[in-house]
Amino acid sequence: MTTKLHFSIITLFALLLSIDAPAQIKKLTTVVIDAGHGGKDCGALGKVSQEKDIVLPVALQVGQYITDSIQGVNVIYTRKTDEYLTLNERAEIANKSSADLFISIHANSAKSPQISGAETYVLGLHRTKDNLAVAQKENSVIVLEDDYSNKYEGFDPSEPESYIIFELMQNAYLGQSINFASTVQDAFVAANRGNRGVKQAGFLVLRQTSMPSVLIEIGFISNPEEEKYINSAAGQTEIARSIFNSFRSYKESYDNSNIALMPSQPIVKESVAKEEEPTGISFYVQIISSKSQQKDFPASLGEVKELVENGMYKYLVSRTTSYDEAQKNLDRVRKLYPDCFIVAFDGAEKISVRHARKRSKQ
Ligand SMILES: [Zn+2]
Repeated sequence: MTTKLHFSIITLFALLLSIDAPAQIKKLTTVVIDAGHGGKDCGALGKVSQEKDIVLPVALQVGQYITDSIQGVNVIYTRKTDEYLTLNERAEIANKSSADLFISIHANSAKSPQISGAETYVLGLHRTKDNLAVAQKENSVIVLEDDYSNKYEGFDPSEPESYIIFELMQNAYLGQSINFASTVQDAFVAANRGNRGVKQAGFLVLRQTSMPSVLIEIGFISNPEEEKYINSAAGQTEIARSIFNSFRSYKESYDNSNIALMPSQPIVKESVAKEEEPTGISFYVQIISSKSQQKDFPASLGEVKELVENGMYKYLVSRTTSYDEAQKNLDRVRKLYPDCFIVAFDGAEKISVRHARKRSKQ
């Protein structure tokens, strides 16, 4: 079966259908900050510390910065002390408060003590075993709950098959979640933190929330040097500052772009332009695949093309006719989307990269 590329250009701006309708601006007014784990759930263990004790002060500091510096934002914490909460309870706090953003803060752990750096997850199906492993570790806390299998609809955190639900899930907030996640990673880069990029995996806590949501792994407790850093006051302040900076810039763009009309009026329409279908061989970098349509990608990506294939929306960037160029694009895009990869087309027909190189003698 061949796949035709639907060449729509997704612009990052929404056009108002009618300028007469009374407009109201939807602002980001409530954020939920979730310090992972707590109480009998210690999270990942380092040589000298536990995840639950590292992420709490970071979460509290992020909230404090927001309260001190930005007016009109209600900061809600899932926990402010060393207290045990289930994943469902955390999501419920966010849903009940109609939060506009959910930020879950965690620390990572890996077998190799060399691995270090920060990464931010949005909900989706993992594309690599490493991403699955991180989600499995974070989801495994549900086994501390009685009757977890019933409460999480038969979900078994250790069973890779359980994760298939994340492929079939509708996620209306993926675009905005990616947008915020990219801002977080950008802020870490600006602060010279090791950048492991924006990733997708099936985290139960993100699945239960109904707003843009991210899970930040601030660093590796399994790396002795990084364990020291994420336990230090200076390290925690730097990390909290980065998350706060990203929140501030996300809120700015959110407040300026979310223009909603009165309910009886047509709301917004994406500006979609048709483009001539290209001829010959072209290469793109595919950044993300989702069951639902997405928008609001980071502006730094340039033009984002949407491809609908087997019921999945796939998003492609950086078209080029040169394979060398495509590899350079891949290296660049990988800084934000570590799981991205090259796809190839002959005209509008999707073909393998190998065939594309052969046909274009590259
Ligand atoms: Zn964790």
